[in-house]
Amino acid sequence: MKTNEEKPKKEEPVLDKMEKIVSLAKRRGFVYPGSEIYGGLSGTYSYGPLGVELKNNIKQLWWKKFVSTRPDVVGVDGPILLHPKLWEASGHTEGFGDAMVDCKECKKRFRADHLVEDATGKDLEGKNEEMTKVIQDEKIKCPNCKKSNWTEVKDFNMMFKTQMNGIEGDIYLRPETAGAIFVEFKNIVDSTRIKIPFGIAQIGKAFRNEIVAGNFIFRLREFEQMEIEYLIHPEADWGILFDDWIVKQEEFAMELGAKKEDLRRLEHPKEKLSHYSKKTVDIEYKFPFGFKELYGLAHRGDFDLTKHSEFSNEKLEYFDQDKNERFTPHILEPTFGVERSLLLALVAAYEEEKIGEDDERVVLRFPKKIAPVKVAVLPLSKKEELSKPTLELFGKLNEHFVSQYDDTQSIGKRYRRQDEIGTPYCVTFDFDSLEDKAVTVRDRDTMQQERINIDNLVDYLKEKLN
Ligand code: ATP
Repeated sequence: MKTNEEKPKKEEPVLDKMEKIVSLAKRRGFVYPGSEIYGGLSGTYSYGPLGVELKNNIKQLWWKKFVSTRPDVVGVDGPILLHPKLWEASGHTEGFGDAMVDCKECKKRFRADHLVEDATGKDLEGKNEEMTKVIQDEKIKCPNCKKSNWTEVKDFNMMFKTQMNGIEGDIYLRPETAGAIFVEFKNIVDSTRIKIPFGIAQIGKAFRNEIVAGNFIFRLREFEQMEIEYLIHPEADWGILFDDWIVKQEEFAMELGAKKEDLRRLEHPKEKLSHYSKKTVDIEYKFPFGFKELYGLAHRGDFDLTKHSEFSNEKLEYFDQDKNERFTPHILEPTFGVERSLLLALVAAYEEEKIGEDDERVVLRFPKKIAPVKVAVLPLSKKEELSKPTLELFGKLNEHFVSQYDDTQSIGKRYRRQDEIGTPYCVTFDFDSLEDKAVTVRDRDTMQQERINIDNLVDYLKEKLN
């Protein structure tokens, strides 16, 4: 083993970390602002070549942890367009949204609860009249134009409306994935032999016309959720199951790179709980803009199945053959945002390291499982005698790992480029490789280099990447 780079020392970044992440994400092809060439469309983003790999890896990790390796969880993939009655049953048509307030001067719209909380520290969510009074009495200034001339606080429904040929009335783009799970409850029970307690999991798009989108990909108008409806017996000891889910949710965040101390639980106070919920906990992560909701867990009682049963006239019950017992299951709902997971992964991985006296590198220390590119394959020189066998090696490695071939600029610069996108291993093919049939493998985190026989390379990397 040899090292040709000095061991780096840690140093606090000087500029705003979030700005650096946003800029790196665009520059290196993780995340681009949506519809940018037309001036952008707020609350929407595209995921570039690296972003889509990272996103897929996060979703696969989730699916593996919560679905394919669990005998008590099955998957489903429902439509985005769902019957309008479903949203009546769930209460979304009547009241899914936040309270808004408009500045009469500059016409900007704000979430009333956020405006009040930022200005006074008071949490008045759900109390529109009180919020109107506080905004006016305390002459809260518009964060945009700094004047104080407001409309009344009003509820705003965040569902996106659309129409469908042959259907009367409004169709909505689903504002959460859960609805698509509940409508398939009966089909899943009938078509599988799964026994209570069991979960139905789904990953998919959700759309919310957020009053204010922002903080990069934290609050979007189009995003993805990973959700599980976990069905339990009404008399089950749900407290144990609830705690177990919370731990698993935190575990998942840590598998994406979160440190335990950057996660915290926020239990909703009784007076803010929905009438059907026994307990709701937000799992918050310390983003650069503060602790904010990352995931959530709610005990939803029998609200969903009872309501869908009422509105659809279908019995949505579970029959326990062994006990000859029929009942409406209760539900625990762990929910995860894909983009908030991706943002966590970027934030947790980002590091600036000083190397030696006057050198520095930016490194994304992604956990290896989610790194978008696993291996970079680099010929020491562009000469054909090296590029030809290196390309052959690249082809071989690419069958096993997402790999990148790079032959431009110095080897040092190429290492830095791979560090910046979080590639765990760089494989360099040099002139000696022609003779000794070995390559140099450089580790992203330690920057140490090892000479590995080409015949053993795939096995070596498989072991390291596992
Ligand atoms: P918030 O309080 O931040 O608005 P919420 O409580 O409305 O979130 P849920 O309805 O519980 O969120 O949604 C489940 C998960 O979906 C959240 O924990 C989050 O990870 C993700 N999520 C919700 N809204 C958005 C959004 N606008 N953009 C990106 N992810 C979101």
